Formats: sequence, structure tokens, C-alpha cells
Amino acid sequence: MIRRNTIQRNLVLKAVRQLACHATAEEIYVEFAKVHLNISRGTVYRNLLRLCEAGEIRKRQMPDGADRFDHICSDHYHAMCARCGKVFDVDMEYMSDIEKLVKDAHGFTFTGHDIVFKGLCPDCTGKPR
Ligand SMILES: [Zn+2]
Ligand SMILES: [Zn+2]
Repeated sequence: MIRRNTIQRNLVLKAVRQLACHATAEEIYVEFAKVHLNISRGTVYRNLLRLCEAGEIRKRQMPDGADRFDHICSDHYHAMCARCGKVFDVDMEYMSDIEKLVKDAHGFTFTGHDIVFKGLCPDCTGKPR
């Protein structure tokens, strides 16, 4: 049973890396199910969470949207298209000291931050609604 779990986990990891597009759990499941017909949604979701815990992938929480799974685990920022909902990496240095700019944290202890830029992706720019 342990062996089978490891195989499934590695397959899910491979799928996330191949997609490489900040896919949602549902998108990953749909892709995965095309190849592995006998896998359940629950198995894929469970393995995604395990991979996050193991630090193999990273879950990104998006405002007003489903969580995304990122094959790149480093700290980096994202841009989310307001029309199609796709999430992109932006090429920008991570500001590890940004918390210091907060003047009054009201006793809050920071553990990190995310920045999600909003806008339209190239595919959506200029497209009529
Ligand atoms: Zn778009
Ligand atoms: Zn990313």
C-alpha cells in the first residue's frame, strides 16, 4: 500500500510540473484523469496536499479564487488575469523585508506575504467581451 501511495504521489507531482501553470486542484485532476483513468478526485487532492507538506510544490492562495498549485517553491510574486483567471509568475525580486515597512502591526507576528497583481493576460488583452 505504501508503495502504491508513493507511485501516485510521484505521478501527481509530475503532472503539476508538466502543467507548470499554477493549476487549480480541479484542473490538475482533469489532466491527470485523462491518463490515469482509475484515479479518484480525492486521491489527487490528497496527494497535492501531501506534496505541499513535503515542500515539493507550493499552494498559492489567490484572492477570489481557488488555491493554485505551483511547481516553483521559491518565494515569488504572481499576476492573475481578471478575465480568464490564469496565474502567471512575475519577474520581480522578492522583498523579504517588506514587513518592516508596516508601521503598526497591532501585535501581529508576520510569517510572510504574497503579492498578486491584477490585470489582463496577453491572451485576454484587447479581446471583446
Ligand atoms: Zn487572461
Ligand atoms: Zn508561481
